Amino acid sequence: MQDKKGVLIVISGPSGAGKGTICKELLNRHNFYLSISATTRSPRIGEVEGVNYYFKTREEFLEKIEEGDFLEYAEVYGNLYGTPKSKVQSMIDEGKDVILEIDIQGALKVKENVSEGVFIFILPPSMEELKQRIIKRGSETEESLMTRFKSAYQEINYISKYNYAVVNDTVEEAVKKIESILVAENCRVDRMKEKILDSKEGLIHEQLYD
Ligand code: 5GP
Repeated sequence: MQDKKGVLIVISGPSGAGKGTICKELLNRHNFYLSISATTRSPRIGEVEGVNYYFKTREEFLEKIEEGDFLEYAEVYGNLYGTPKSKVQSMIDEGKDVILEIDIQGALKVKENVSEGVFIFILPPSMEELKQRIIKRGSETEESLMTRFKSAYQEINYISKYNYAVVNDTVEEAVKKIESILVAENCRVDRMKEKILDSKEGLIHEQLYD
């Protein structure tokens, strides 16, 4: 067990807002752990089992729900998605910051249980830009494209449930903002409670917490 637990960072936002690219860049720069979800969705071209998702049948997924394996799960666009609980917990206990890139329903469930998590909502620069990004991705059928676009409008209403909103004008700027958020979060006094302070800081520690 580490002196300081890792921070749970929950990143959501509508399809096409650029969550995936932002998370990838954060992982390139920092020693975070990105939780790999289970899903009943079919793999897209290039997606790899155990790297992008754990691809499950509906029956397998329902079994995992029964066994209490998920920190949260939700049905998104007709498919089930869930966050494996034990891996996330062990990473946090080891002091590693964990990123969950999950939908809004899932994020709200996590918030009920892990109020100390950091909840970040990624916004596209504009709705037109969002539409273009979803179209450009080209992995969606016409129907699922419309579903994703419509739900993006509804999802943005949930922004008030989050701690932070980050507009993804450019990936570089968005990543910088998230890095700043995490620096600030790690300076929060309530997160310092578990930090072992050196002898010089011990006095401050005592004054704060004894
Ligand atoms: P996609 O099918 O494009 O990979 O993901 C669709 C949506 O499901 C995205 O909004 C993504 O963030 C969300 N998602 C991915 N994994 C999980 C998960 O474990 N739980 C929940 N609630 N949503 C997830």
